[in-house]
Amino acid sequence: MKHIPTINKSGPQPQKLAALRQAHREWSDSPDVLTRITRRLSTSLSLETQLAILAEEINTVVPFDCMNYRHQIATRDFVYATGMGGPHRCDYRLNLEGSFYGTLSFSRRQKFAEQELEGIELMLAAAICPIRNACQFIAIEQAALTDSLTGVPNKRALDGALARACSLGDRHGEGCSLILCDLDQFKAVNDEHGHVVGDHILKLAAAELEKAVRNSDSVYRFGGEEFAILLPHTDENDARSVADRIREYIRSIVVNCGDTDVSITTSCGVAQRLPDETPDQWLARADEALYRAKDSGRNCTRVFAAIRN
Ligand code: GH3
Ligand code: MG
Ligand code: MG
Repeated sequence: MKHIPTINKSGPQPQKLAALRQAHREWSDSPDVLTRITRRLSTSLSLETQLAILAEEINTVVPFDCMNYRHQIATRDFVYATGMGGPHRCDYRLNLEGSFYGTLSFSRRQKFAEQELEGIELMLAAAICPIRNACQFIAIEQAALTDSLTGVPNKRALDGALARACSLGDRHGEGCSLILCDLDQFKAVNDEHGHVVGDHILKLAAAELEKAVRNSDSVYRFGGEEFAILLPHTDENDARSVADRIREYIRSIVVNCGDTDVSITTSCGVAQRLPDETPDQWLARADEALYRAKDSGRNCTRVFAAIRN
């Protein structure tokens, strides 16, 4: 039978409550650095905030000139640095229960004494669990924003990026364009060659899209066989050229399936953001342009022109 905790009906426990109040006062006002660092680190899941707290607290006990942290979390290279380094350095690899959570180094002009290294290590021991939690939080956040088949950011990530692009556009008047790209007759690819081949082509398509665009542009899997590309500082004419380049890259994909080579084409719809346009309105115009590209026979680009003559 499941154990259900029962409520103690013996009434208030004044002594225990007073002891609890006292313990809380001591815990929150404690001058003890380990209590304070543990308490402060537990207030945030942001790795950046935690590293700032760690640097501040260690500096009160073992002064240093620079603290550097580096860790590859999923696909992201997370780097954090404070101040300028000196010639003397101590390095730590943060490991907990067989998993690695980054490298941390401290540097300064004077040599570190043995007791100081011990002090740093005691504080790192208090920080390692919160740092692990923050690293795992970043990994989970990244997974939630990544399409598991192709590895590119997903629709949820696009929603965030479009909202940011719109607020940047409103504040600084920056031009930004969006390309929607839908693979042509993709249902037939699945029907003729199977879903495994379809999935493989989707992965190749995402990789080609990333090759076709600049580093400042970003590719998202918008839906099944649909991708979106966000192009900051790009007007509709330049975006059209990018869309045409994308179509060439997609056309270059050839997958050998026994006695046939499978290749695909894509249609593209382009829209430059208009002043004050919401993400949904902007997306709807790019989608309308894509619809026109499909309607014009596919494997072509259509632009929903911002200015119509
Ligand atoms: P159109 O040129 O008009 O876009 O034709 P289409 O066949 O590409 O469009 P339709 O909307 O009729 O079909 C989309 C196809 O994309 C159907 C679906 O099986 C396929 N698809 C969507 N997501 C995936 C996926 O994750 N893997 C595979 N293999 N196929 C997918
Ligand atoms: Mg589609
Ligand atoms: Mg399609």
